[in-house]
Amino acid sequence: MRVDHDIVVAGGGVAGATAAALLAQSGHSVALVDRRRPDMPDPDSDFDPRVVAIAPGSAAVLGAAGAWERLPENRLGPYDRMQVHADGGEIVFRASEHGLGKLGWIVEVPWLQASCWQALEAIDGVELIAPGSVSGFSQREDHIRLEIEGGKTLRSRLLVAADGARSRLRRLAGIETDLWHYNQQALVTHVETERPNDGIAWQRFTEHGPLALLPLADGRSSIVWSQPERRVSELKTLDDEGFLAELNACQDSPFGEATAATKRYAFPLIRRQAKNLVSGRVVLLGDAARNVHPLAGQGLNLGLMDAAALAEVLADWRGESDPARALAHYQRWRISGGSLVAGGIHAINEFTRAGPGRSLAGLGFSLAGRLWPLREAFVEHACGLERDSPKLARSAR
Ligand SMILES: Cc1cc2nc3c(=O)[nH]c(=O)nc-3n(C[C@H](O)[C@H](O)[C@H](O)COP(=O)(O)OP(=O)(O)OC[C@H]3O[C@@H](n4cnc5c(N)ncnc54)[C@H](O)[C@@H]3O)c2cc1C
Repeated sequence: MRVDHDIVVAGGGVAGATAAALLAQSGHSVALVDRRRPDMPDPDSDFDPRVVAIAPGSAAVLGAAGAWERLPENRLGPYDRMQVHADGGEIVFRASEHGLGKLGWIVEVPWLQASCWQALEAIDGVELIAPGSVSGFSQREDHIRLEIEGGKTLRSRLLVAADGARSRLRRLAGIETDLWHYNQQALVTHVETERPNDGIAWQRFTEHGPLALLPLADGRSSIVWSQPERRVSELKTLDDEGFLAELNACQDSPFGEATAATKRYAFPLIRRQAKNLVSGRVVLLGDAARNVHPLAGQGLNLGLMDAAALAEVLADWRGESDPARALAHYQRWRISGGSLVAGGIHAINEFTRAGPGRSLAGLGFSLAGRLWPLREAFVEHACGLERDSPKLARSAR
């Protein structure tokens, strides 16, 4: 059966667009479908509230996709130090001690997504279908038939579902998920502080939940403060003065007091894990595969590792041959990698909710800080550089 494309990627968020670019660069013919084509952000606009910490391994993956170098320098908030505190105990990581230039960068999601799409436009063998929405599909022996809203149909050998946390395609593929409602929300805003944040990702486990101050390129910090839903609602209704007082009562960062804040946003927090990543010729990737608590800044980093892993296992696959073995490899690889990270993050969040857990965590941080192999293993994991990472990510070393 003749097909239109080897691979259709449904969902052009950062994970899906990166996968499309890497797969096309391996010589596959690819279509990327999304409900909307992302706009190029205005270079003079204020920083978007949706920012993510991108690890060096993920930056290397974005670089291979042709997106990283398109990000303007003045929108990247690099950090070479990470400081984590809990009840008097702390652990500090410095990039130079681990042979790295940076431990990561704080980047706005709209800039990342637009850079990925720009990169895709420059790659041969990619069709961009936007606006377009994959509304259904049927699997046949050697291909998959996709319905695009509005009546268009497409035939491809594989469908990559990168359609986000509430993935419709995951549901249509009959893949179940394990769900955990944290009853927490992440409060997000950008703050000015007495002293500029010149490159520290700072985090403290407060009595209300983990609070992070992450460096923006202009010296402000982006705040991600995960707390019970009711408290987030209360904090959202306070005026700026009241909010800053609550924040300053919980933070003792090296940047001094927070003196001004932008509008506050709240994101509900759910842990979700797909029980399988593959069903026939459908493959899940990014948030469609799992959602993790943002306390370790790993959600998109995991999605980018999915993209690189999928491109790696499919590098030698050519459209007519059976992809089952390569996809089974992808599933084993990414279910175990993703679950380990998600499980660790989940355990830390639960453990540090109560006072005794936080005190023990503080003690643990101080002890772990003295154990070099543990520190090194943590940094390798957080930076996407461990032995099990895709080759593209490990090239950041
Ligand atoms: C408060 C907060 C802080 C975070 N901080 C970090 C961090 O520091 N580091 C980190 O790595 N991660 C972080 N994350 C997680 C990160 O934001 C997500 O993991 C990431 O943005 C998900 O990207 P994605 O491409 O998988 O999905 P999405 O960005 O959700 O993209 C899905 C795309 O699919 C499209 N789509 C949906 N349905 C269809 C369809 N039927 N057909 C076609 N297209 C469709 C949508 O239009 C969309 O473009 C954070 C999350 C939160 C909430």
